Amino acid sequence: MKSFAIARPGSHAAAAKLAADKTYTLPVIKSGGIDIIDQMKEGLLEPDLLVHLGSIGEGAATISMEGGRLRIGAGVTLAQIASSPIVIEHCPVLAQTAASAATPAVRNMATIAGNLLQRPRCWYFRQHQFDCLKKGGGTCYAVEGENKYHAIFGGGPCHIVHPSNLAPALVVAGGVAHLVGGKRTSIPIADLFHTPDKGVRTEHVLEPGEVLTHLTCDAAPASGFCGIKEKQSFDWPLAFACVGLRVTDGTIQSAGVCAGAVAPVPWSLPRVAEALAGVKVGDDAAIRAAAVLSGQDARPMRDNGYKVRLLGVAVHRAALKALGREAEGLS
Ligand SMILES: Cc1cc2nc3c(=O)[nH]c(=O)nc-3n(C[C@H](O)[C@H](O)[C@H](O)COP(=O)(O)OP(=O)(O)OC[C@H]3O[C@@H](n4cnc5c(N)ncnc54)[C@H](O)[C@@H]3O)c2cc1C
Ligand code: SF4
Repeated sequence: MKSFAIARPGSHAAAAKLAADKTYTLPVIKSGGIDIIDQMKEGLLEPDLLVHLGSIGEGAATISMEGGRLRIGAGVTLAQIASSPIVIEHCPVLAQTAASAATPAVRNMATIAGNLLQRPRCWYFRQHQFDCLKKGGGTCYAVEGENKYHAIFGGGPCHIVHPSNLAPALVVAGGVAHLVGGKRTSIPIADLFHTPDKGVRTEHVLEPGEVLTHLTCDAAPASGFCGIKEKQSFDWPLAFACVGLRVTDGTIQSAGVCAGAVAPVPWSLPRVAEALAGVKVGDDAAIRAAAVLSGQDARPMRDNGYKVRLLGVAVHRAALKALGREAEGLS
């Protein structure tokens, strides 16, 4: 690993200035450091300045309700989100996605901003031997190679899945990222990420020097998450679903459904949402039928067709969780 300097700015604005400072070849923002340090160890990134956000006050690590919306500082950890009574009450899907991510040790360090902006886990990308498209090479090795964990929607020319648990939950809850250091001051989470056809080297639309200060989202009290994993800990999900419902008089009035680990961006499923609207909360057959629609436009690769079925199961269970019920047995 090459040597690097560390800066400890006292504000997000000062961090943004340092991140855009041309005196350095590659200044990089560091929050919890879980992904950044991994990338440095893997030889993917050689910064000469780490701009460490750990010392910033400004509400960077606090959770509150403001004007009916949830406000979460960029430096709030996944462990704080998972155990926050405010998040559990007002946006359970966010608490559940945070609780399910990684391991207790990782959740204690990992921040919400870093979770959204972490780089993909494609094994070809993470191995320095493979100079794939995302690293400026000429090939996506996943096309002909091992693609068990890759995208079934929205792939090409790169077929990563977006690694963040929290991003789909925030899409369902109308999340917004608030920024300093650039021309804009906010961006909806639904617009934060781009598909590989819009640029294969990056996953999000932030410019160098734009720093996330906090997130806001709507209260979504009837919301739920279901992730299906090979291991219960120390792993990313194979497929997961976040569902938010608006229910009155025992009927689902409207729904938001967003899938994760199946596409290069959080993957909204509007047809499933439409099919859920008008369904009686006790009508399991109709909820299951809506969930099955989630796989309709999937384009699996050689080894990942299993994700289509997993996603239907995850959507069904997440919808039941949003209604305050757990699925019985396997679907
Ligand atoms: C074993 C293991 C299992 C895991 N399983 C899961 C899982 O199931 N689900 C899941 O979602 N994640 C999982 N993760 C990933 C983990 O959650 C992320 O690596 C972590 O959330 C990153 O947060 P961080 O604060 O450490 O970010 P950092 O590593 O500090 O930064 C990550 C990126 O965000 C940028 N950044 C950070 N803060 C800001 C800011 N305020 N403004 C602008 N840019 C910023 C950094 O420049 C960097 O590019 C797992 C990780 C491990 C090691
Ligand atoms: S899926 Fe993307 S990151 Fe993985 S090998 Fe292909 S181009 Fe590289």
